[in-house]
Amino acid sequence: MKKIMIYLLMIAMIVTATGCSQGATVEEPEAAKTAIENGTYTGVGEGKGGDISVEVTIEEDVITAINVLSQNETEGLDQAIGTLTEEILRINSLEVDVVAGASVTSNGFVEAVTAALGAANATPDMLKKIEVAEVTTERETVTEKCDVVVIGAGGAGLTAAIEAKAAGANVIVLEKMPAAGGNTLISGAEYAASNNWMQKEMGIEDSIEQHIEDTLKGGDYVNDPALVRVVAENALAGAEWLRDFVGVVWEDELMQFGGHSAKRSLVPEGASGRAIITKQLVKAEEMGIPVLLNTKATALITDETGKVVGVEAEGKENDYIFETNKAVIIASGGFGSNVEMRVKYNPDIDGSILSTNSPGSTGDGIVMAEAVGADLTGMEFIQTYPICDPLSGTLLYVDDARLYGHTVIVNLEGKRFVEELGRRDVMSMGIKAQTGSVCYELMDQNGFEKSYLQENHAAEIEYLYNNDLFVKADTLEEAAAFYGIDAAELKTTVDNYNSYVADGVDPEFNKRSLPSTIEKAPYYILKAVPAVHHTMGGIMINESAQVVDLEGSVIEGLFAAGEVTGGIHGKNRLGSNAIADITVFGRIAGQNAAK
Ligand code: ADP
Repeated sequence: MKKIMIYLLMIAMIVTATGCSQGATVEEPEAAKTAIENGTYTGVGEGKGGDISVEVTIEEDVITAINVLSQNETEGLDQAIGTLTEEILRINSLEVDVVAGASVTSNGFVEAVTAALGAANATPDMLKKIEVAEVTTERETVTEKCDVVVIGAGGAGLTAAIEAKAAGANVIVLEKMPAAGGNTLISGAEYAASNNWMQKEMGIEDSIEQHIEDTLKGGDYVNDPALVRVVAENALAGAEWLRDFVGVVWEDELMQFGGHSAKRSLVPEGASGRAIITKQLVKAEEMGIPVLLNTKATALITDETGKVVGVEAEGKENDYIFETNKAVIIASGGFGSNVEMRVKYNPDIDGSILSTNSPGSTGDGIVMAEAVGADLTGMEFIQTYPICDPLSGTLLYVDDARLYGHTVIVNLEGKRFVEELGRRDVMSMGIKAQTGSVCYELMDQNGFEKSYLQENHAAEIEYLYNNDLFVKADTLEEAAAFYGIDAAELKTTVDNYNSYVADGVDPEFNKRSLPSTIEKAPYYILKAVPAVHHTMGGIMINESAQVVDLEGSVIEGLFAAGEVTGGIHGKNRLGSNAIADITVFGRIAGQNAAK
C-alpha cells in the first residue's frame, strides 16, 4: 500500500473585508491592501521555438489564471507549459522546477509570466505566500507481467507494439517522456519506397535494386547489405500497412531526397511525422495497448542463461519490474541529444553543434543492450542535417522547397558551393566551411508555392520571419541586402542557374533535379546551419530484428528496431530512409517478439 503522508495543509488566507456598513457611526473597514494591482497583464519569454506570449490574471496578489496567447514550441515539449501552469497556480509562486527534457521551454514560459508581472510593476516575490500541502509518497516497486515490453513510443516502438498485439501478444509500451513520438513526431516523415503507387501514377521507373544501391552508396558501402535489402524489399509493404491498417494518409506527391537516384519518397499528410504518430496512437488505443508515459526503462533483466526476461523502469511515482513471457523490444531511438555520448564515439560532434533531436534521444537503449552483451556497430557515424535553425538547431521544413528541387544554396559571397540535392554529410561539411558556417537558401514565388510551404509550415515561417531567419523581398538585390549577401554575385549565380535549368544540366555541381528557374518575384531567402540529426550507429541486429552479441550469437528474448540499431545506413543515412527502416524493422520485431 502506498503511504501518503500529509505534512502540512495550511493555506493562509487573508480574509478580505467586504465592507458591511451598519450605520453612519460605524467606520468602514479599510479595504485590504494588495501589493499588486488587480488586473490581467501580458508578457513574453523566449522558448525553443521563439516567443512564448502569455496573459496572467492577478487578483489580491494571487495568480488566478495564465493563458498562453501564442507559442511555437515543438509538439510534446509544449506539454511543459501545461504542467508549469498547474504548478504556478497551485503554489502561487514562480519558484517551479523545470520540466525534464523541456528546460528551454520551461524557462521561456516562466520568463513570460515574470514579464507579465513586470507589466504590473510587480516582481515574483510580491505574490502572496501560500503554504500548500506538501505530499510525499513513498516509492513502491510494482511488478507486472506481460508477453512483450516495448521500450520507446516513437515510430519504431509503436509499429512494433501494434504488430505484436495484432499477432496475439499482450503488449506494454514504455515512454520516458511526457508525450509519445520521439524523433519520428518532429520529422518530416517522408518514406522511401521503390515501385510505390505514386511512382506508378507519375510514370517513374524505379527498382528495389536501385534503392539498395543508392542506400549502400550513400552509406559509403559500410552498411550491412543484408539489412539494407530487408528494408528496400519491405518498404512498400510497410507504407501500405501504415496506409491500410494504421490509417496514415499519404499526399498525392513524391519528394526526391539527396542521394536517391529516383523520386521515390512518399509524403505523409502535412509533410510531418505527426500524421504517422497520431494515427499509431489511435490504433494502439483501439487495440488496447497501454502506452505508459513518464516511464523510463533503466535496465534489462536476464535469467541465468542470459535470456532477456524483463525490464526495470522508473515511473513518476513508482519503480516497476515488467516480467516478459516472450520478449523485450528496444525502440528507444538514437543519441543525438546526448553530447557526452556523441563525444565518446566521435569527438568532432561536440556541444558546439546544435541538435534537431527530441530531448529523449539519449542512447539509453544502446547502453542497456550493451550491458547484457549486445554488440554495437558504427557508433562514430553521426549525421548532421544541413538546413537547421541557427538559434535552436530545429530542422527547418521550409527546406522542403529544396527537396522539390526549387532552391539554390549560396554563401555570404553569393556563390553556390555544393549540390543542393547532395548527401547530408557533404552539404553539412560544405556549409561549415563557408563564411560564418552558415548558408542561405534562395527560392522564388514559384518554388515557394509549388512546395506547399504556406499550407504545411505556416507557424515555422512566421517564427523565421520574426527572428530574421527568412526574408521575402520584391527583388533579388533587396533579399540579398537583408543578410549582407553580395548581390551582384548572387544575380550572376541565379542567371547561371536559370541557364542550367533551360539546358537540363548543371555543369557546376551536377544538381540532379532542375524543375524550375528562379525568376518570379517575390524572392525568399532562408538562413540556416547544420545540426546533429541522426545517429547511424547502434545495436547490432540480424534480419529478424534479434539483437546479436559480441560472438555473433542471438541474445534470446531481445529485439531492437529503429534508430537505436546500427548497420543499416552505414556512414550516412539518406533522407526518407529512416521511416522506411523503422517501419520495416518495427514490424519484423513486433511479429517475431510475439512468437
Ligand atoms: P525511432 O525513430 O527509432 O522510433 P524515436 O526517436 O522516434 O525513434 O522514438 C524513440 C522513443 O524512445 C522516444 O519517444 C524516446 O523518448 C523514447 N525513449 C528513449 N529512451 C527511453 C527509455 N529509457 N525508456 C523509455 N522510453 C525511452
